Parts: sequence; structure tokens; C-alpha cells
Amino acid sequence: MPRFSRSKLAELTWDSLKKAFPDSACSLDFDLPERLAVRGILSAQCTDKRVNLTSKELFDKYPDMKALSAASAEDIAQVIKPCGLTASKTASVMDFAERFTGEWKGTIPNDVDELMKVRGIGRKIANLIVGEIYGTPAIVVDTHCKRVMKRIGITDSEDPAHVEKDMMKVFEEDKWIAIGHLSVDLGRTYCKSQSPDCGACPMAGFCRRRI
Ligand code: SF4
Repeated sequence: MPRFSRSKLAELTWDSLKKAFPDSACSLDFDLPERLAVRGILSAQCTDKRVNLTSKELFDKYPDMKALSAASAEDIAQVIKPCGLTASKTASVMDFAERFTGEWKGTIPNDVDELMKVRGIGRKIANLIVGEIYGTPAIVVDTHCKRVMKRIGITDSEDPAHVEKDMMKVFEEDKWIAIGHLSVDLGRTYCKSQSPDCGACPMAGFCRRRI
């Protein structure tokens, strides 16, 4: 089995993933941009399915950011509890809602650094927000993406910021948003954390771990 350069691996990975998951997309519900941002906050260490269910309950109770920013921490915490990390996510949702209705005047900034000023929003969530809402090229390196990129051989790192940089070097900018979603699809379907199904995986012909 030949060894491939990272650029070649990226090319093969992209082609295979696009073929395997033609309908790949963000699995968080997207109705309003600000609601998607809140879902992004809730998604830390939680499944998108759970976030969609819990955020429905949250927005049924507090339909907009004005209502959310007026709510008490206790009330918000009560609703978002199923998503875990309740205290930090409550603080983050409240900070986001206050900035959205206040200094941002109802518009989410298309700016990762500005978004990262919100309590609890790190680079992953900021990248998700600018990518999904504005189509700004940004790679969301979540736990699936980090794992599959290392196994395939596109990075040697487990540090998300480093993985993101390695990916930015080999995937063209217009692929950055999609490659994050495609990595999640691969990680959920074949390249699971504990028992990767290499025998059925479409990456098996070039993946470093498989090799
Ligand atoms: S071949 Fe195996 S290790 Fe490589 S990406 Fe597929 S499932 Fe993961």
C-alpha cells in the first residue's frame, strides 16, 4: 500500500466523503441565525439530537433573544439542563443574548474573535456560527473531526487548533465548512471512537491507520 502526502490524502478524503455522504449538512436545526448560535453553545459535549429537542423547548418559552436576556439564570438552567454543563452553558446563553440585543444591535458579528468574547464560546463554536450563518470559510474541529483526521493521516496532532491549521493547509477554502460536516458523518458512521469499521469504510484504500 503506497504512502500518500497530506495533500493527496486530503484530495482522496474529500472525493470519498462527498461520494459517501452527498447530503451532508449541519445537523443542528437552523431557523434563525441567533437561535442557531444558541444551539451551537448548547452543543458542547452534547448530541445535536438532544440540542434540537432542548432548544425547541427553550425557544417555545423564550422565542427571541430579548425574552431570553430577560429570563433568570435559574429558569434558563432548568430548561437547558438535559444538555449538560448547565452552569457554564446558562452563563454563555445569557451573555450571548445580552450582547445580541445590546452592543450587536440584533446582528451576529461575522467575526470569530468578536464571537469568542462571549463567555464560553471557543473557536469551534465561533467557526460553526460564522460558517453556517454567513458562509465564511471556517473549519469546525469537533471530536469526530479531530479523530478521523489523525487516523487518516492529515494531522499528527490532537490539539484542535493544530488540527485546524493542518487541515487549512491541505483543503481549499471553499471546502472548509463542508469538510467539518463530512468528518462528523464519517466519525458517526464508520470511524467510531472505539471500534472503527475499517472493512466497510470508504477511506480504507488510503487511510493511514487502515494501512
Ligand atoms: S479506514 Fe478505519 S481508521 Fe481509517 S477512516 Fe475508515 S474507519 Fe477510520
